[in-house]
Amino acid sequence: MAVFSPLTSLKGVGPKRAAILEAEGIQTPQDLFDYFPRRYLDRSTIRKIGELRDGESVTVAGTVLQARIEGSGSGRSRFRAVLDDGTGSVELTWFRGVRYFASGIAPGDALAVHGKAGFFGGRRQMQHPDFEHLGVTAAEGLLQGHTDYELFHTGRIIPLYSTSAAMKQGGLNSRQLRTIVAAAFERFTLGSEENLTPDIVRMHDLLPLSEAYREMHFPSSHERLEAARTRMKWTELFYTQLLFALRRKELEKNRSAPALTHSGEITRRFYAGLPFTLTGAQKEVIREIYRDLRSARPMNRLLQGDVGSGKTLVAMFSMALAADNGLQSAFMAPTEILAVQHYLSLKRWLSPLGIDVALLAGRQPKRARETVLAGLESGSVTVAVGTHAMIEKAVSFSRLGLVIIDEQHRFGVLQRKALQEKAASPHVLLMTATPIPRTLTMAGFGDLDLSVIDTMPEGRVPVKTSLVPENAKKRVYEALRREVESGRQAYIVYPLVEESEKIDLRSAVESYEELSATVLAGLRLGLIHGQMSPELKESVMDRFRAGDLDVLVGTTVIEVGVDVPNATVMVIEHAERFGLAQLHQLRGRVGRGRHASGCFLVHAPLSGEASERLGAMAATSDGFRISEIDAGIRGAGNVLGREQAGMVSGLKIADPLLDALLMQSARKAAFALASEDPELEKREHVMIRSCYLRHYHDRSTLADIG
Ligand code: ADP
Ligand code: MG
Repeated sequence: MAVFSPLTSLKGVGPKRAAILEAEGIQTPQDLFDYFPRRYLDRSTIRKIGELRDGESVTVAGTVLQARIEGSGSGRSRFRAVLDDGTGSVELTWFRGVRYFASGIAPGDALAVHGKAGFFGGRRQMQHPDFEHLGVTAAEGLLQGHTDYELFHTGRIIPLYSTSAAMKQGGLNSRQLRTIVAAAFERFTLGSEENLTPDIVRMHDLLPLSEAYREMHFPSSHERLEAARTRMKWTELFYTQLLFALRRKELEKNRSAPALTHSGEITRRFYAGLPFTLTGAQKEVIREIYRDLRSARPMNRLLQGDVGSGKTLVAMFSMALAADNGLQSAFMAPTEILAVQHYLSLKRWLSPLGIDVALLAGRQPKRARETVLAGLESGSVTVAVGTHAMIEKAVSFSRLGLVIIDEQHRFGVLQRKALQEKAASPHVLLMTATPIPRTLTMAGFGDLDLSVIDTMPEGRVPVKTSLVPENAKKRVYEALRREVESGRQAYIVYPLVEESEKIDLRSAVESYEELSATVLAGLRLGLIHGQMSPELKESVMDRFRAGDLDVLVGTTVIEVGVDVPNATVMVIEHAERFGLAQLHQLRGRVGRGRHASGCFLVHAPLSGEASERLGAMAATSDGFRISEIDAGIRGAGNVLGREQAGMVSGLKIADPLLDALLMQSARKAAFALASEDPELEKREHVMIRSCYLRHYHDRSTLADIG
């Protein structure tokens, strides 16, 4: 097809330019069409320089009166230009890339610039503004307020393209790119090209593709530009969701899981024996899970819920149903501490019902391990809890029907898969206490069904969170001492960053010793960190759980899942060094019982981003809200696990957080298509199939839990 011909076939593109563009991944006219403007400059938003106010981000246009490098020599030179539009002038300053800017801007040039206006020494200034060369006529037109001024093949909305350093060096700026894109549009009249079926386009009221492309580059109005962006976003979301939808179909086609149709004595007795009532959210989620388990379609579900929302209990309901149907369950957790803790609570709840629960952790005595392995193989052990020790070859089950993976994001695809492969086709429940916004979940985990526990069990007292500057932390220890004296327990956590592991560890150990000898003298302190043997860690945890220790001092090994309801104080040292998700996890260690709890974020002087993070912690305890804020700070991809990030970072135009409605409608359409034509073999889907294979099929290696 012509749009996939070489770029040199375009006016204005010789071998040199073609090579530069190719290095950026732009090899064909189609790639050019897909190279959407980074921003648009709207003439109607251009402001008069004379009316600029301090601190506002604006676009202005004018003529360059002066331009020169100041403070020559190597170190501190800068490039300064003065831009004037007849109503006033503004000084533009660049401290970095001085030579580059100096070579591109000269007196007499007409520029549009975008940046933050400021006043220094009574003069208007902008530092490192974005800029765009305009034709002189254009600038004059702008100054005179003409509506019909002659901007090169644009309406009043001018596309601005981002250009890499290499492109700039090769003399390709935004304006020249615009020329080339225009040449591409001229040469290849887009007409009937489509990558969606006419039905879909009509049903979702989308702009036809060729029109959308044109409007993306040369918008005729804001409304049309918006419609074009919607069309492009929708298409992108549709195809990424199609990936999930087809994967799901594939899974269902080849597999059938045991249908757990028998709801029996164990489930009934488990429910009847609960000392509390289930929350509405728990009931709903259990219903969703039971519906899956009763069908022969393998469950493939992600359960999200904040720390302490009662996910483990839901998991136990699932295991009870499996047991009622004569099937084994495997429950995998990321750390020994957590595995042991789950083991203890599963045993407490399930053993009375006649379910034999066993632990499989890393360094068990050989004899104990062999007994467990034999029990799993013979079927006498019904529930196995463990770390990744469970995925070893030697472990085999006689009739494994249900696989549950806690804190699933801490495992890799292969580990999850290895556990699933212990059975022909088990039901799978993934759990995570790092809740993420629903649309983000769809973007990253679109092949999973989603269950959410969004309410906490009743009677929980929200944790009071305070920010405490380093120099005021004495009062934190005083508060801690008072709590301990009234019978409660406390955590003190130190950061452990991989790069400075040794120093961090030393500072945690030293602090522990110092605290024991000074402010916390007389209290029973325990120390726990990653360098200790599992046995030692476990014995410290045991003592803390049993109430034989008042204060647990440690690095972040206590982060995940530790459940000691009597603990009411969480002190996080150097809180500014923790990420939001981690802070939230840590705070979740307290507020688990009926006593009021406090979380103290002790911090050094704060940078902007750290202050945003800690501010968010103080403002809300809603895990979903926190991950939303986190995504805002770090980017959506960083909030998802490594494997899912690819799906999100692959989105060029849609925003998985902001485009929730488009996501839903695109997802629905993609799943409908996958149901109707799972092989995409119908005539009317040829186009979709080829677009899918060309651009999306190999998108990522995400949670392939098939
Ligand atoms: P999660 O796994 O989501 O962190 P858990 O299932 O461990 O949460 O529950 C946290 C604590 O709350 C446990 O001690 C559990 O027994 C208790 N719990 C669970 N569900 C309820 C409920 N509906 N009402 C009261 N307490 C509950
Ligand atoms: Mg948990």
